[in-house]
Amino acid sequence: MNFFLPTQIITGKGCVKASADKIAALGKKCLIVTGKSSAKKCGALEDVISTLESKNIQYYIYDKIEQNPTIKSCIDGGMLARHFSADFIIGIGGGSPLDASKAIAVLAANEITENDLYSMNWKNEPLKVIAIGTTAGTGSEVTQVAVITASDGRKKSFRANSVFPVLCLGDASYTEFMPDSVTRSTAIDALSHCIESYFCKTSNDISRTVAKRGIEIIYNVFRGIVKGKKIDFEMRENLYLASLYGGISISVTGTAFPHALGYFLTEKYSVPHGTACAVYLPEFIRYNEKNAECIYRELFEDIDDEELIGLIKAIAPKADVKVNEDVFKEVYPRWINNSCLSKMYGDITADSLDKIVRKCVK
Ligand code: NAP
Ligand code: FE
Repeated sequence: MNFFLPTQIITGKGCVKASADKIAALGKKCLIVTGKSSAKKCGALEDVISTLESKNIQYYIYDKIEQNPTIKSCIDGGMLARHFSADFIIGIGGGSPLDASKAIAVLAANEITENDLYSMNWKNEPLKVIAIGTTAGTGSEVTQVAVITASDGRKKSFRANSVFPVLCLGDASYTEFMPDSVTRSTAIDALSHCIESYFCKTSNDISRTVAKRGIEIIYNVFRGIVKGKKIDFEMRENLYLASLYGGISISVTGTAFPHALGYFLTEKYSVPHGTACAVYLPEFIRYNEKNAECIYRELFEDIDDEELIGLIKAIAPKADVKVNEDVFKEVYPRWINNSCLSKMYGDITADSLDKIVRKCVK
């Protein structure tokens, strides 16, 4: 077994201000990385600023991170951090600003090319990153992965232990400001991480235990929503915890075919990340019922699998896309030697992935 999680996780209302000493221990100059407006709207930016000011830490706010962050914004951010002589980075946001913070942390310490970033070819230790989540989805706060849109428009990731955030400050009250569609899409992303990781051959007992707990939590929250319950703070806290459990699980295994097949829907049709995973998640569950019988039964001891599939369909926003034959052909080469293939139970090939895409994307 191999399990490594160097991130200190502190959750609960008010945890940012309560962690002032830990933040101050990282240095005297901080680059704050956010998206366009949500960090302000949800109150997280204000909490960070007052905490930094209380400790006389200088800061600069870089608020140019777009959804599915581009390599260009990360390179610009890296340059800014270098010129400002930032000692550390605080990323505030959903997965986009958090992933961008990891790339910026590398690019601040290393003047390297895009290719070097993706191939983890750098010498200097990246700056330390504090991750403050404002969505309950990606779990990027606790992963060593960053997904950054490359110059060719493709979503590509890099994975390095040195970009695990040193500190995750998880205050679910920030997530109360998410629009309903973002709440749903990001919750499905978290669920997808847990389910995909659970069924990877690379999982271990720790990752499966954590993933199973994440699935149970989200299953219960979704049941409440479908029965008409308003999403209250307790449900928000539960969703946020489950998103961390998803992150912890994929930090061990990476993701499987719902993620791999979902990226082109985001790149070409702007389908939000979690919604893109939801397109394939029911099929993924059915696939593993046939191919990973033993661990499948263990997962679905106390959870009704058909009910879970129904909940996913009821909760996920609809991905309204029409994919034509040219696009199916264009993306086919991505399925050849796709890294998810070797992690899956059963006999799965590029052709199987092509069939799944054609079946699920209507
Ligand atoms: P996101 O792209 O970070 O944000 C989506 C939208 O929600 C943005 O418009 C954002 O606004 C808004 N938003 C965020 N928090 C909000 C809040 N509290 N209140 C109101 N609006 C809020 O969404 P995400 O789903 O969290 O992240 C998706 C990205 O993460 C993708 O690029 C995906 O590939 C990546 N990902 C990474 C990992 C990993 O392990 N590193 C895992 C899965 C996915 P602003 O733009 O104003 O902030
Ligand atoms: Fe994801």
